[in-house]
This record gives sequence, structure tokens and C-alpha cells, in this order.
Amino acid sequence: MIKPAKIYETELNTKLQGTMLDPYYKWWHMTYKDAIITVESTFWSKTQIVGVHDGKVTSYFSAVWDRPGNYVDNFICANFCKDHKVWFAADMKAVFNYLINEENAKKIRWVCVKNNPINKSYEKLVKKFGGRIIGTERYGAHCCGHNYDLVYYEWINDYYVCDDCGYKTKKDELVCKKCGSCLMSYVNPFETSVQSMCSNI
Ligand SMILES: [Zn+2]
Repeated sequence: MIKPAKIYETELNTKLQGTMLDPYYKWWHMTYKDAIITVESTFWSKTQIVGVHDGKVTSYFSAVWDRPGNYVDNFICANFCKDHKVWFAADMKAVFNYLINEENAKKIRWVCVKNNPINKSYEKLVKKFGGRIIGTERYGAHCCGHNYDLVYYEWINDYYVCDDCGYKTKKDELVCKKCGSCLMSYVNPFETSVQSMCSNI
């Protein structure tokens, strides 16, 4: 279950401090280890959320906002409960659902060290949900005495919607899979006009 991190700030910091010398978390702490997460009192510049299971903090998610652009400029996460990856995956899904459907994020952008094993999951994630790798910056990060490449990702909240039944899809489909209507419109949150696919035929 996800909760605002502010409520669990002390426990979150205790969890974080417990990982500082654990090599598993080196990609989180990098070279300039910071023992304290300051949780802001509003979600204006950062949405900070924790996953809570059995009454304990098990994960942390932070989305840094570009305002008033209303898109997420960077997203980071940490799993404090390595034995329960299912909890982490479910909480991450809930966080993305919140950012996209409640906060209406126009776009989510994030960056990750190429050598971090989570990169494989990110590659699968963008493939499945229609994001993309923006590019790779060479030697852009420093960790444990070495410089590593950084991979930049983005996911834009654009979609095709059926004007008849409201079915939404990321795929460019001429005919609605749900009701068979050809009134599929493309919606891009960065563009003001809504384009009907039918008018292009
Ligand atoms: Zn439809």
C-alpha cells in the first residue's frame, strides 16, 4: 500500500541509513552518500511516497516535478525489502497510476546509471508502455571511484481514444478494438489540438 512519505519520514530515514554500507544499494547512494531524505510538506515540487507493508516502510518513490510544465523531470525509487519484490512492483504500479491518472503528469522522465541492474527492467517498461530511451550520456555519473554512463528515459502521456466508447490505447489503431468505431482521436497533452484519425483517411 502506498502512503505519503511525510507521515513516515523518521522511519524512512532509518531505513535509508541502514543501506548506506550495503553494496546492493550503491547505485542509489552513488559516491556522495546523503544520510537524510528531507520530505517536503507539499507535492508541488516533489511527490514523495513510501510503500508500507505489515506496518513497515518497504520502499520509497520520489517524482521531481517541473512546474508549471506539469511533467515529472526525474523519478527515483528504492526497495528496502529485497525479499518481497512483488510488493515493490505493486507499489511502483500504484505510484505511476497516481502520477498519471490523479496528478495528470504529461510526461515522466528519468535517468539511470547504465550498469545499474534495474536498467533491464526500465528497458522492458518503456517497451511495454510506449516510452523510449532518449539517449546515453557517456561518463555522466560517479560511483565507487568509477565513472559510468547514464541512460535517459521518457514516457509521454499521449494516447488514442475512441470518441464513441472512450477506449484508450497507446497504439495507433484505426478501428476501436472495443466497439469497432473508426472515430479514434489522438490526444497529446503537449498539443492543444485534438486530431481525428478518421479525418486523415
Ligand atoms: Zn470504441
